[in-house]
Amino acid sequence: MSIISKKICLVGDFGVGKTSLMRRFVDRQFSDRYLSTIGVKISRKIVRVAAPQRLECQKVQLLIWDVEGQTKFQPVEQNYLRGCAGAIVVADLSRQDTISRLYEHLNLVSLANPRGVRAIAAFNKSDLLTSEKLATVLQEKKYSQNVPTYITSAKTGKNVEQIFQKLVCLMLDKP
Ligand code: GDP
Ligand code: MG
Repeated sequence: MSIISKKICLVGDFGVGKTSLMRRFVDRQFSDRYLSTIGVKISRKIVRVAAPQRLECQKVQLLIWDVEGQTKFQPVEQNYLRGCAGAIVVADLSRQDTISRLYEHLNLVSLANPRGVRAIAAFNKSDLLTSEKLATVLQEKKYSQNVPTYITSAKTGKNVEQIFQKLVCLMLDKP
């Protein structure tokens, strides 16, 4: 079975839940496989994607980059983003300022990788909002139509698999 590798980056303000989303997604298989480097953690996870034109699945090794300990918004390091095929840009639904800055983060990602990086927006910590409040917040937001947007919770696991699966599909140019 062929395997391809893709670098993906978690991007967003401090405390929005980037590391928690990554752990929720990865830990089931790779809890002991964190590779630490200074300021950045890189985790690996292999996902399988159905390839209709072939009998076997396509295996994709995700190298998930997660910056540690950003204390406040700062332009994401170009080195961090260099060569990434995809990015999950995260905001915290309970903190309006992180939602406002989501679009700045998205711009930085596309500036760093002008040749078509794929991005997903994750509005995280949905478990902290009542369903009424969630509906109001969602109505107020203007989502970018180019960027698939998900409401997630690293705590309950809501949509965590889905954001990574969707990103893999986008990176492989699958619908
Ligand atoms: P990071 O700085 O973006 O990596 O954020 P962390 O993953 O370290 O999370 C910051 C804090 O938010 C931690 O206390 C997490 O336990 C909490 N947190 C992360 N995701 C969620 C979530 O979906 N729901 C709730 N209730 N708390 C969360
Ligand atoms: Mg973190």
